[in-house]
Amino acid sequence: PTEDYENLRRRVYSNTKELWYYISHELSKVMYEDNKVEKIQAVLDQIAERKRSLLSDQEKLPELDGYHEWRQMEAANVSDLIQRRLRHLQNPPDCREARKLICNLNKGCGFGCQLHHIVYCLIFAYATERTLILNSKGWRYNNKGWDYVFYPISDSCTSVYDDKVIQWPVSYDAKVISLPFIDSISQKPKFLPLAVPKDLAHRIVRFNGDPASWWIGQMVKFILKPRPSLQKAINETIAKMNFKNPIVGVHIRRTDKVGTEAAFHHIHEYMTHVKAYYDQLQLTRLVDVRRVYLATDDANVLEDARTKYPEYEFLGDPSIAKTAATHRRYTPLSLTGLLLDLHLLARCDYIVCTLSSQVGRVAYEMMQTNRVDASDSFFSLDDIYYFGGQNAHDRVAVLPHTAVDTQDIALQVGDLIGIAGNHWNGYGRGTNKRTNMNGLVPWYKTADHLVLYPFPEYKNVPL
Ligand code: GDP
Repeated sequence: PTEDYENLRRRVYSNTKELWYYISHELSKVMYEDNKVEKIQAVLDQIAERKRSLLSDQEKLPELDGYHEWRQMEAANVSDLIQRRLRHLQNPPDCREARKLICNLNKGCGFGCQLHHIVYCLIFAYATERTLILNSKGWRYNNKGWDYVFYPISDSCTSVYDDKVIQWPVSYDAKVISLPFIDSISQKPKFLPLAVPKDLAHRIVRFNGDPASWWIGQMVKFILKPRPSLQKAINETIAKMNFKNPIVGVHIRRTDKVGTEAAFHHIHEYMTHVKAYYDQLQLTRLVDVRRVYLATDDANVLEDARTKYPEYEFLGDPSIAKTAATHRRYTPLSLTGLLLDLHLLARCDYIVCTLSSQVGRVAYEMMQTNRVDASDSFFSLDDIYYFGGQNAHDRVAVLPHTAVDTQDIALQVGDLIGIAGNHWNGYGRGTNKRTNMNGLVPWYKTADHLVLYPFPEYKNVPL
Protein backbone atom coordinates (compact mmCIF):
# COMPACT_ATOMS: atom_id res chain seq x y z
CA PRO A 1 0.00 0.00 0.00
CA THR A 2 1.11 3.54 -0.69
CA GLU A 3 1.87 6.17 1.94
CA ASP A 4 -1.15 8.18 0.76
CA TYR A 5 -3.35 5.15 1.29
CA GLU A 6 -2.15 4.56 4.85
CA ASN A 7 -2.61 8.21 5.77
CA LEU A 8 -6.08 8.31 4.31
CA ARG A 9 -7.08 5.10 6.07
CA ARG A 10 -5.97 6.56 9.43
CA ARG A 11 -7.79 9.77 8.65
CA VAL A 12 -11.06 7.87 8.04
CA TYR A 13 -10.62 6.02 11.33
CA SER A 14 -9.90 9.13 13.32
CA ASN A 15 -12.66 11.18 11.66
CA THR A 16 -15.20 8.47 12.44
CA LYS A 17 -14.32 8.98 16.11
CA GLU A 18 -14.51 12.76 15.61
CA LEU A 19 -18.03 12.35 14.24
CA TRP A 20 -19.07 10.56 17.41
CA TYR A 21 -17.39 13.13 19.71
CA TYR A 22 -19.30 15.82 17.88
CA ILE A 23 -22.71 14.10 17.92
CA SER A 24 -22.57 13.00 21.55
CA HIS A 25 -21.45 16.42 22.72
CA GLU A 26 -23.97 18.43 20.72
CA LEU A 27 -26.94 16.19 21.49
CA SER A 28 -26.20 16.12 25.24
CA LYS A 29 -25.99 19.92 25.17
CA VAL A 30 -29.14 20.48 23.11
CA MET A 31 -31.21 18.46 25.62
CA TYR A 32 -31.13 21.35 28.07
CA GLU A 33 -31.49 24.22 25.62
CA ASP A 34 -34.35 26.28 24.22
CA ASN A 35 -34.92 26.66 20.44
CA LYS A 36 -34.36 22.94 20.03
CA VAL A 37 -35.67 22.83 16.48
CA GLU A 38 -33.15 25.31 15.04
CA LYS A 39 -30.29 23.90 17.04
CA ILE A 40 -30.97 20.33 16.03
CA GLN A 41 -31.20 21.41 12.40
CA ALA A 42 -27.83 23.13 12.69
CA VAL A 43 -26.32 19.98 14.21
CA LEU A 44 -27.83 17.83 11.45
CA ASP A 45 -26.24 20.08 8.82
CA GLN A 46 -22.87 19.67 10.51
CA ILE A 47 -23.27 15.90 10.68
CA ALA A 48 -24.14 15.79 6.97
CA GLU A 49 -20.97 17.74 6.20
CA ARG A 50 -18.85 15.33 8.23
CA LYS A 51 -20.53 12.34 6.62
CA ARG A 52 -19.82 13.73 3.14
CA SER A 53 -16.18 14.14 4.04
CA LEU A 54 -15.95 10.59 5.39
CA LEU A 55 -17.59 9.08 2.33
CA SER A 56 -15.53 11.17 -0.01
CA ASP A 57 -12.32 9.99 1.69
CA GLN A 58 -13.45 6.39 1.53
CA GLU A 59 -14.19 6.66 -2.17
CA LYS A 60 -10.56 7.61 -2.68
CA LEU A 61 -9.25 4.53 -0.84
CA PRO A 62 -9.55 2.05 -3.74
CA GLU A 63 -7.82 4.53 -6.02
CA LEU A 64 -4.83 4.70 -3.70
CA ASP A 65 -4.49 1.16 -2.38
CA GLY A 66 -2.30 0.03 -5.25
CA TYR A 67 -4.89 -2.30 -6.82
CA HIS A 68 -6.78 0.24 -8.91
CA GLU A 69 -5.40 -0.95 -12.24
CA TRP A 70 -5.52 -4.58 -11.21
CA ARG A 71 -9.26 -4.30 -10.52
CA GLN A 72 -9.88 -2.75 -13.93
CA MET A 73 -7.93 -5.46 -15.65
CA GLU A 74 -9.59 -8.25 -13.69
CA ALA A 75 -13.10 -6.88 -14.41
CA ALA A 76 -12.28 -6.71 -18.12
CA ASN A 77 -10.83 -10.24 -18.07
CA VAL A 78 -13.78 -11.87 -16.28
CA SER A 79 -16.24 -10.02 -18.50
CA ASP A 80 -14.35 -11.18 -21.58
CA LEU A 81 -14.34 -14.77 -20.30
CA ILE A 82 -18.12 -14.74 -19.80
CA GLN A 83 -18.71 -13.22 -23.24
CA ARG A 84 -16.49 -15.87 -24.87
CA ARG A 85 -18.28 -18.67 -23.01
CA LEU A 86 -21.62 -17.31 -24.22
CA ARG A 87 -20.38 -17.08 -27.81
CA HIS A 88 -19.16 -20.65 -27.54
CA LEU A 89 -22.51 -21.81 -26.16
CA GLN A 90 -24.44 -19.90 -28.82
CA ASN A 91 -22.36 -21.11 -31.76
CA PRO A 92 -22.03 -24.90 -31.40
CA PRO A 93 -19.89 -26.68 -34.03
CA ASP A 94 -22.90 -28.73 -35.13
CA CYS A 95 -26.13 -26.82 -34.68
CA ARG A 96 -28.30 -29.71 -35.78
CA GLU A 97 -26.96 -31.92 -33.01
CA ALA A 98 -26.85 -29.27 -30.28
CA ARG A 99 -29.22 -29.35 -27.31
CA LYS A 100 -31.39 -26.29 -27.36
CA LEU A 101 -33.60 -24.02 -25.32
CA ILE A 102 -36.40 -21.96 -26.83
CA CYS A 103 -37.33 -18.54 -25.53
CA ASN A 104 -40.44 -16.86 -26.90
CA LEU A 105 -40.38 -13.09 -26.87
CA ASN A 106 -44.14 -12.78 -26.60
CA LYS A 107 -44.36 -11.48 -23.05
CA GLY A 108 -46.96 -8.73 -22.89
CA CYS A 109 -44.86 -6.19 -21.05
CA GLY A 110 -42.42 -3.33 -21.53
CA PHE A 111 -38.94 -3.54 -23.01
CA GLY A 112 -37.11 -3.81 -19.68
CA CYS A 113 -39.33 -6.72 -18.72
CA GLN A 114 -38.80 -8.42 -22.08
CA LEU A 115 -35.04 -7.94 -21.94
CA HIS A 116 -35.05 -9.52 -18.48
CA HIS A 117 -37.07 -12.39 -19.93
CA ILE A 118 -34.24 -13.06 -22.41
CA VAL A 119 -31.68 -12.68 -19.60
CA TYR A 120 -33.50 -15.37 -17.63
CA CYS A 121 -33.52 -17.64 -20.71
CA LEU A 122 -29.80 -17.04 -21.34
CA ILE A 123 -28.90 -17.85 -17.73
CA PHE A 124 -30.99 -21.01 -18.06
CA ALA A 125 -29.13 -21.85 -21.28
CA TYR A 126 -25.72 -21.20 -19.69
CA ALA A 127 -26.63 -23.33 -16.65
CA THR A 128 -27.90 -26.27 -18.70
CA GLU A 129 -25.40 -25.98 -21.60
CA ARG A 130 -28.08 -25.51 -24.21
CA THR A 131 -27.98 -23.14 -27.15
CA LEU A 132 -30.63 -20.46 -26.79
CA ILE A 133 -33.02 -19.93 -29.71
CA LEU A 134 -34.97 -16.68 -29.54
CA ASN A 135 -38.38 -16.61 -31.24
CA SER A 136 -39.33 -12.99 -31.82
CA LYS A 137 -41.49 -12.78 -34.95
CA GLY A 138 -44.34 -10.35 -34.31
CA TRP A 139 -42.46 -8.75 -31.41
CA ARG A 140 -44.41 -5.81 -30.02
CA TYR A 141 -41.55 -3.26 -30.35
CA ASN A 142 -40.75 -4.34 -33.90
CA ASN A 143 -42.99 -6.66 -35.83
CA LYS A 144 -40.10 -8.00 -37.91
CA GLY A 145 -38.37 -9.31 -34.83
CA TRP A 146 -35.47 -8.77 -32.45
CA ASP A 147 -32.77 -9.41 -35.07
CA TYR A 148 -34.03 -6.52 -37.13
CA VAL A 149 -32.93 -4.06 -34.41
CA PHE A 150 -30.15 -5.91 -32.58
CA TYR A 151 -27.49 -8.40 -33.61
CA PRO A 152 -28.83 -11.94 -33.26
CA ILE A 153 -27.77 -13.84 -30.14
CA SER A 154 -26.24 -16.51 -32.40
CA ASP A 155 -24.38 -16.17 -35.70
CA SER A 156 -24.79 -19.77 -36.72
CA CYS A 157 -27.51 -21.58 -34.81
CA THR A 158 -31.03 -20.21 -34.95
CA SER A 159 -33.22 -23.17 -35.84
CA VAL A 160 -34.46 -26.31 -34.09
CA TYR A 161 -34.87 -28.04 -37.48
CA ASP A 162 -37.53 -30.75 -37.19
CA ASP A 163 -36.78 -31.65 -33.60
CA LYS A 164 -39.66 -32.07 -31.20
CA VAL A 165 -40.09 -29.22 -28.72
CA ILE A 166 -40.99 -30.14 -25.15
CA GLN A 167 -42.23 -27.61 -22.65
CA TRP A 168 -40.07 -27.34 -19.50
CA PRO A 169 -40.20 -28.84 -16.84
CA VAL A 170 -39.31 -32.17 -18.42
CA SER A 171 -38.78 -35.47 -16.70
CA TYR A 172 -36.02 -36.60 -19.07
CA ASP A 173 -33.18 -34.93 -20.95
CA ALA A 174 -35.10 -33.77 -24.01
CA LYS A 175 -33.06 -32.36 -26.87
CA VAL A 176 -35.12 -29.22 -27.37
CA ILE A 177 -37.08 -27.61 -24.57
CA SER A 178 -39.17 -24.47 -24.47
CA LEU A 179 -39.21 -22.20 -21.43
CA PRO A 180 -42.25 -20.73 -19.66
CA PHE A 181 -42.15 -17.21 -18.18
CA ILE A 182 -40.15 -17.01 -14.98
CA ASP A 183 -43.23 -15.83 -13.04
CA SER A 184 -45.08 -19.06 -13.75
CA ILE A 185 -42.39 -21.51 -12.59
CA SER A 186 -43.30 -23.14 -9.29
CA GLN A 187 -40.11 -25.15 -8.65
CA LYS A 188 -37.43 -22.58 -9.35
CA PRO A 189 -34.01 -23.94 -10.31
CA LYS A 190 -31.28 -22.77 -7.91
CA PHE A 191 -29.22 -21.25 -10.72
CA LEU A 192 -31.75 -18.47 -11.30
CA PRO A 193 -30.90 -14.95 -10.04
CA LEU A 194 -29.51 -13.80 -7.81
CA ALA A 195 -27.19 -16.83 -7.93
CA VAL A 196 -23.67 -16.25 -9.24
CA PRO A 197 -21.39 -18.89 -10.87
CA LYS A 198 -19.23 -20.47 -8.20
CA ASP A 199 -16.14 -20.62 -10.41
CA LEU A 200 -16.26 -16.85 -11.02
CA ALA A 201 -17.74 -15.43 -7.81
CA HIS A 202 -14.45 -15.20 -5.95
CA ARG A 203 -12.96 -13.24 -8.80
CA ILE A 204 -15.96 -10.90 -9.13
CA VAL A 205 -16.19 -10.00 -5.42
CA ARG A 206 -12.65 -8.69 -5.56
CA PHE A 207 -13.61 -5.83 -7.86
CA ASN A 208 -17.39 -5.44 -7.53
CA GLY A 209 -19.67 -4.81 -4.55
CA ASP A 210 -22.77 -6.36 -6.11
CA PRO A 211 -21.75 -9.49 -8.04
CA ALA A 212 -25.34 -10.60 -8.76
CA SER A 213 -26.24 -7.50 -10.76
CA TRP A 214 -22.80 -7.50 -12.40
CA TRP A 215 -23.40 -11.07 -13.59
CA ILE A 216 -26.85 -10.12 -14.91
CA GLY A 217 -25.25 -7.09 -16.57
CA GLN A 218 -22.94 -9.47 -18.44
CA MET A 219 -26.02 -11.21 -19.88
CA VAL A 220 -27.46 -7.83 -20.91
CA LYS A 221 -24.13 -6.96 -22.53
CA PHE A 222 -24.24 -10.13 -24.62
CA ILE A 223 -27.89 -9.73 -25.63
CA LEU A 224 -28.15 -6.00 -26.24
CA LYS A 225 -26.01 -5.14 -29.26
CA PRO A 226 -27.70 -2.52 -31.44
CA ARG A 227 -27.33 -2.88 -35.20
CA PRO A 228 -25.26 -0.13 -36.90
CA SER A 229 -28.29 1.93 -37.99
CA LEU A 230 -29.67 2.06 -34.44
CA GLN A 231 -26.24 2.69 -32.94
CA LYS A 232 -25.73 5.51 -35.44
CA ALA A 233 -29.02 7.11 -34.48
CA ILE A 234 -28.05 6.91 -30.81
CA ASN A 235 -24.57 8.32 -31.42
CA GLU A 236 -25.90 11.21 -33.48
CA THR A 237 -28.40 12.24 -30.83
CA ILE A 238 -25.72 12.13 -28.14
CA ALA A 239 -23.37 14.22 -30.26
CA LYS A 240 -26.01 16.96 -30.47
CA MET A 241 -26.42 16.98 -26.70
CA ASN A 242 -24.25 18.64 -24.11
CA PHE A 243 -23.64 15.31 -22.40
CA LYS A 244 -20.58 15.82 -20.21
CA ASN A 245 -19.36 14.49 -16.88
CA PRO A 246 -20.01 15.06 -14.09
CA ILE A 247 -23.64 14.22 -14.67
CA VAL A 248 -26.34 12.54 -12.60
CA GLY A 249 -29.01 10.40 -14.28
CA VAL A 250 -32.55 10.60 -12.99
CA HIS A 251 -35.21 8.11 -14.07
CA ILE A 252 -38.76 9.07 -13.23
CA ARG A 253 -41.28 6.34 -13.98
CA ARG A 254 -44.87 7.53 -13.93
CA THR A 255 -47.95 6.93 -16.16
CA ASP A 256 -49.28 3.35 -15.98
CA LYS A 257 -46.83 2.28 -13.25
CA VAL A 258 -48.07 4.71 -10.60
CA GLY A 259 -50.71 3.30 -8.29
CA THR A 260 -50.48 -0.17 -9.81
CA GLU A 261 -46.91 -1.31 -9.24
CA ALA A 262 -45.23 1.69 -7.63
CA ALA A 263 -45.97 4.83 -5.65
CA PHE A 264 -45.82 8.37 -7.02
CA HIS A 265 -42.60 10.20 -6.19
CA HIS A 266 -42.37 13.95 -6.42
CA ILE A 267 -39.45 15.51 -8.31
CA HIS A 268 -38.00 16.92 -5.07
CA GLU A 269 -37.51 13.39 -3.71
CA TYR A 270 -35.19 12.64 -6.62
CA MET A 271 -33.47 16.03 -6.48
CA THR A 272 -32.61 15.65 -2.78
CA HIS A 273 -30.31 12.80 -3.77
CA VAL A 274 -28.93 14.64 -6.79
CA LYS A 275 -28.03 17.52 -4.49
CA ALA A 276 -26.42 15.15 -1.98
CA TYR A 277 -24.30 13.70 -4.78
CA TYR A 278 -23.07 17.08 -5.95
CA ASP A 279 -22.52 18.43 -2.43
CA GLN A 280 -20.19 15.53 -1.79
CA LEU A 281 -18.46 15.77 -5.16
CA GLN A 282 -17.76 19.42 -4.51
CA LEU A 283 -15.46 18.52 -1.63
CA THR A 284 -12.92 17.11 -4.05
CA ARG A 285 -13.47 18.98 -7.30
CA LEU A 286 -14.85 22.16 -8.72
CA VAL A 287 -18.33 21.64 -10.15
CA ASP A 288 -19.27 24.55 -12.38
CA VAL A 289 -22.52 23.10 -13.72
CA ARG A 290 -24.79 20.68 -11.92
CA ARG A 291 -25.93 18.57 -14.87
CA VAL A 292 -28.81 16.09 -14.76
CA TYR A 293 -29.86 13.67 -17.49
CA LEU A 294 -33.58 13.18 -17.05
CA ALA A 295 -35.27 10.09 -18.51
CA THR A 296 -38.99 9.65 -18.00
CA ASP A 297 -42.25 8.48 -19.48
CA ASP A 298 -44.06 11.54 -18.13
CA ALA A 299 -44.18 14.25 -20.79
CA ASN A 300 -44.45 17.10 -18.25
CA VAL A 301 -41.61 16.25 -15.91
CA LEU A 302 -38.75 17.88 -17.82
CA GLU A 303 -40.38 21.29 -17.98
CA ASP A 304 -41.48 21.05 -14.37
CA ALA A 305 -37.92 20.19 -13.28
CA ARG A 306 -36.43 23.11 -15.24
CA THR A 307 -38.89 25.54 -13.65
CA LYS A 308 -38.42 24.25 -10.11
CA TYR A 309 -34.64 23.79 -10.25
CA PRO A 310 -33.15 26.61 -12.36
CA GLU A 311 -29.74 26.09 -10.72
CA TYR A 312 -29.44 22.71 -12.48
CA GLU A 313 -28.91 22.04 -16.18
CA PHE A 314 -31.37 19.37 -17.33
CA LEU A 315 -30.69 17.28 -20.40
CA GLY A 316 -33.45 15.22 -21.91
CA ASP A 317 -35.83 14.98 -24.82
CA PRO A 318 -39.51 15.78 -24.17
CA SER A 319 -40.53 14.07 -27.42
CA ILE A 320 -39.05 10.75 -26.19
CA ALA A 321 -41.00 11.05 -22.95
CA LYS A 322 -44.14 11.91 -24.88
CA THR A 323 -43.86 8.81 -27.07
CA ALA A 324 -43.15 6.67 -24.03
CA ALA A 325 -46.19 8.06 -22.26
CA THR A 326 -48.74 7.06 -24.87
CA HIS A 327 -50.02 4.09 -26.82
CA ARG A 328 -47.11 4.74 -29.20
CA ARG A 329 -44.87 3.18 -26.56
CA TYR A 330 -44.61 -0.15 -28.41
CA THR A 331 -43.14 1.10 -31.66
CA PRO A 332 -39.65 1.11 -33.20
CA LEU A 333 -39.47 4.87 -32.60
CA SER A 334 -40.16 4.53 -28.91
CA LEU A 335 -37.61 1.71 -28.69
CA THR A 336 -34.93 4.01 -30.10
CA GLY A 337 -35.85 6.63 -27.50
CA LEU A 338 -35.72 4.13 -24.67
CA LEU A 339 -32.36 2.73 -25.77
CA LEU A 340 -30.99 6.25 -25.88
CA ASP A 341 -32.28 6.87 -22.37
CA LEU A 342 -30.85 3.59 -21.08
CA HIS A 343 -27.52 4.15 -22.75
CA LEU A 344 -27.18 7.64 -21.31
CA LEU A 345 -28.40 6.75 -17.82
CA ALA A 346 -25.78 3.98 -17.75
CA ARG A 347 -23.09 6.51 -18.70
CA CYS A 348 -23.94 8.90 -15.87
CA ASP A 349 -21.72 9.09 -12.78
CA TYR A 350 -24.65 8.39 -10.51
CA ILE A 351 -28.31 7.37 -10.94
CA VAL A 352 -31.35 8.33 -8.88
CA CYS A 353 -34.32 6.13 -9.72
CA THR A 354 -36.93 3.70 -8.47
CA LEU A 355 -35.64 0.16 -8.83
CA SER A 356 -39.24 -1.06 -8.87
CA SER A 357 -39.00 -0.10 -12.56
CA GLN A 358 -37.37 -2.56 -14.94
CA VAL A 359 -36.02 0.44 -16.85
CA GLY A 360 -34.19 1.61 -13.71
CA ARG A 361 -32.86 -1.88 -13.13
CA VAL A 362 -31.62 -2.30 -16.71
CA ALA A 363 -29.88 1.10 -16.50
CA TYR A 364 -28.09 -0.02 -13.33
CA GLU A 365 -27.12 -3.40 -14.84
CA MET A 366 -25.68 -1.62 -17.88
CA MET A 367 -23.84 0.81 -15.60
CA GLN A 368 -22.32 -2.19 -13.80
CA THR A 369 -20.80 -3.39 -17.08
CA ASN A 370 -19.60 0.10 -18.04
CA ARG A 371 -17.33 0.39 -15.05
CA VAL A 372 -15.51 -1.79 -12.55
CA ASP A 373 -17.95 -1.24 -9.71
CA ALA A 374 -21.19 0.76 -9.85
CA SER A 375 -22.66 -0.81 -6.73
CA ASP A 376 -22.56 2.48 -4.83
CA SER A 377 -23.34 4.73 -7.77
CA PHE A 378 -27.12 4.89 -7.47
CA PHE A 379 -29.94 5.63 -5.11
CA SER A 380 -33.32 3.94 -5.38
CA LEU A 381 -36.30 5.72 -3.86
CA ASP A 382 -38.09 2.44 -3.37
CA ASP A 383 -36.88 -1.14 -3.81
CA ILE A 384 -33.39 -2.50 -3.40
CA TYR A 385 -32.04 -4.24 -6.49
CA TYR A 386 -33.82 -7.44 -7.52
CA PHE A 387 -34.53 -9.59 -10.55
CA GLY A 388 -38.21 -10.23 -11.22
CA GLY A 389 -39.00 -13.86 -10.31
CA GLN A 390 -35.72 -14.33 -8.42
CA ASN A 391 -35.08 -16.91 -5.72
CA ALA A 392 -35.03 -15.83 -2.08
CA HIS A 393 -32.67 -12.93 -1.42
CA ASP A 394 -31.27 -13.00 2.08
CA ARG A 395 -28.97 -10.97 4.23
CA VAL A 396 -26.69 -12.67 6.71
CA ALA A 397 -26.13 -11.38 10.25
CA VAL A 398 -22.50 -10.42 10.79
CA LEU A 399 -23.02 -8.98 14.30
CA PRO A 400 -25.29 -10.30 17.05
CA HIS A 401 -28.32 -8.22 17.99
CA THR A 402 -30.54 -8.24 21.04
CA ALA A 403 -34.02 -6.89 20.41
CA VAL A 404 -34.35 -3.59 22.26
CA ASP A 405 -38.05 -3.00 21.74
CA THR A 406 -41.05 -4.78 20.28
CA GLN A 407 -40.24 -3.77 16.72
CA ASP A 408 -36.80 -5.23 16.13
CA ILE A 409 -35.75 -8.88 16.12
CA ALA A 410 -32.82 -10.76 17.65
CA LEU A 411 -29.90 -11.93 15.52
CA GLN A 412 -27.09 -14.40 15.94
CA VAL A 413 -24.07 -14.22 13.69
CA GLY A 414 -24.74 -16.36 10.62
CA ASP A 415 -28.54 -16.09 10.76
CA LEU A 416 -30.13 -15.70 7.35
CA ILE A 417 -32.71 -12.95 7.09
CA GLY A 418 -35.20 -12.93 4.23
CA ILE A 419 -35.50 -9.25 3.44
CA ALA A 420 -38.47 -7.17 2.46
CA GLY A 421 -36.47 -3.98 1.99
CA ASN A 422 -34.28 -1.29 3.46
CA HIS A 423 -36.16 1.61 5.04
CA TRP A 424 -33.16 3.94 4.60
CA ASN A 425 -33.40 4.97 8.25
CA GLY A 426 -30.81 2.57 9.57
CA TYR A 427 -33.23 -0.35 9.60
CA GLY A 428 -34.74 -2.80 7.19
CA ARG A 429 -37.54 -5.27 7.59
CA GLY A 430 -37.05 -9.00 7.35
CA THR A 431 -37.71 -12.46 8.71
CA ASN A 432 -35.03 -14.34 10.59
CA LYS A 433 -35.12 -17.79 9.01
CA ARG A 434 -33.81 -19.46 12.19
CA THR A 435 -36.42 -18.01 14.57
CA ASN A 436 -39.15 -17.17 12.06
CA MET A 437 -39.48 -13.76 13.71
CA ASN A 438 -40.38 -10.85 11.47
CA GLY A 439 -39.40 -7.28 12.30
CA LEU A 440 -36.84 -4.53 12.04
CA VAL A 441 -33.18 -5.34 11.60
CA PRO A 442 -30.31 -2.88 12.07
CA TRP A 443 -28.97 -2.94 8.51
CA TYR A 444 -25.33 -2.42 9.54
CA LYS A 445 -25.35 -5.71 11.45
CA THR A 446 -26.09 -7.60 8.23
CA ALA A 447 -24.37 -8.20 4.91
CA ASP A 448 -25.65 -9.30 1.55
CA HIS A 449 -25.78 -13.09 1.33
CA LEU A 450 -24.27 -14.09 -1.97
CA VAL A 451 -25.66 -17.33 -3.41
CA LEU A 452 -23.10 -19.40 -5.31
CA TYR A 453 -24.21 -22.04 -7.79
CA PRO A 454 -21.97 -24.60 -9.53
CA PHE A 455 -22.68 -23.51 -13.11
CA PRO A 456 -20.79 -25.44 -15.84
CA GLU A 457 -17.22 -24.19 -16.12
CA TYR A 458 -16.86 -24.33 -19.91
CA LYS A 459 -13.41 -25.87 -19.62
CA ASN A 460 -12.85 -25.85 -23.40
CA VAL A 461 -13.09 -22.07 -23.46
CA PRO A 462 -9.60 -20.88 -22.43
CA LEU A 463 -9.43 -18.83 -19.21
P1 GDP B 1 -41.45 -0.94 -15.83
O1 GDP B 1 -42.88 -1.05 -16.23
O2 GDP B 1 -41.05 0.45 -15.47
O3 GDP B 1 -41.05 -1.92 -14.77
O4 GDP B 1 -40.51 -1.28 -17.08
P2 GDP B 1 -40.85 -1.96 -18.49
O5 GDP B 1 -39.63 -1.79 -19.35
O6 GDP B 1 -41.36 -3.31 -18.31
O7 GDP B 1 -42.04 -1.10 -19.14
C1 GDP B 1 -42.01 0.28 -19.17
C2 GDP B 1 -41.93 0.80 -20.59
O8 GDP B 1 -42.29 2.20 -20.55
C3 GDP B 1 -40.53 0.79 -21.14
O9 GDP B 1 -40.13 -0.40 -21.72
C4 GDP B 1 -40.57 1.96 -22.10
O10 GDP B 1 -41.21 1.57 -23.29
C5 GDP B 1 -41.43 2.97 -21.35
N1 GDP B 1 -40.59 3.82 -20.47
C6 GDP B 1 -40.57 3.84 -19.11
N2 GDP B 1 -39.68 4.73 -18.64
C7 GDP B 1 -39.11 5.29 -19.72
C8 GDP B 1 -38.09 6.29 -19.90
O11 GDP B 1 -37.51 6.85 -18.98
N3 GDP B 1 -37.76 6.61 -21.18
C9 GDP B 1 -38.35 6.02 -22.26
N4 GDP B 1 -37.95 6.39 -23.48
N5 GDP B 1 -39.31 5.09 -22.13
C10 GDP B 1 -39.68 4.72 -20.89
